[in-house]
Amino acid sequence: MPRLAVVCGGSRGIGKAVSRLLAERGCRLVVVSRRGDAARAAVAELHGAEHQAFSCDVSRVEEVQETFETIQRTCGNISYLVNAAGVNRDALLLRTKPEDMVSLLHTNLLGCMLTCRAALRSMLHTQGAAVVNIGSVVGLKGNSGQTVYSSTKAGLEGFTRSLAKEVASRNIRVNLLAPGFIHTDMTAGLREEDRARSIPLARFGTSEEVARAVLFLLESSYVTGQVLVVDGGLQLVM
Ligand code: NDP
Repeated sequence: MPRLAVVCGGSRGIGKAVSRLLAERGCRLVVVSRRGDAARAAVAELHGAEHQAFSCDVSRVEEVQETFETIQRTCGNISYLVNAAGVNRDALLLRTKPEDMVSLLHTNLLGCMLTCRAALRSMLHTQGAAVVNIGSVVGLKGNSGQTVYSSTKAGLEGFTRSLAKEVASRNIRVNLLAPGFIHTDMTAGLREEDRARSIPLARFGTSEEVARAVLFLLESSYVTGQVLVVDGGLQLVM
């Protein structure tokens, strides 16, 4: 039976590239995103009757629980969980609305905690189960204008390392991947030529480059509790 991989935020950007690569590797995919039509469109591109799409807002406690119960009941036990669902609202702290703080925390940090919690029991039943959470280089280094966003990503680092310790004895691995600037909808408003000067490799990365690193972490059977930075060297000069 092929491995079952759940990719939250798999309808676009980094999550979509991860879904594509995992499908090419022979996994059965469950693509999760808020908009069910977008998740279904992403699954249609994977060309396989075995793949499924689910509409779920990862920031909503009951929705996550119900979705993962349905996934386990209808698709089986989960081998891989990738948490790529995320939002940004870049602003200086003084200009950040409290409701935006709540939304960022609920989607980027709480959402990841909820999906991990909902998936873990199912993952106990599979060999070589692994989680990859998508953080950010700004969660490691901080960034002016991204105070709240970077805090959610820094929180993911502590969460990932702690969960890795909690579940290592059950042979479930948990790692964090921290991208720099990647070409997706999230960075569509940024001018690459302005930013590239500050990146040692002098360009944005692609979702496919991030996906390959996610795959490495999912398949690296002796790596857990680690942060892998995929940023063209940006962290070196931040
Ligand atoms: P995109 O905006 O391209 O895609 C975001 C994905 O998350 C979509 O599939 C979206 O689907 C889903 N999503 C957003 N909110 C929710 C929610 N509440 N519940 C379920 N799904 C949700 O972003 P990227 O691919 O660029 O980003 C992926 C991850 O990588 C994010 O965590 C981001 O913070 C992180 N990252 C990105 C960087 C970049 O430069 N692009 C750099 C560093 C980190 P839908 O709208 O249908 O819900």
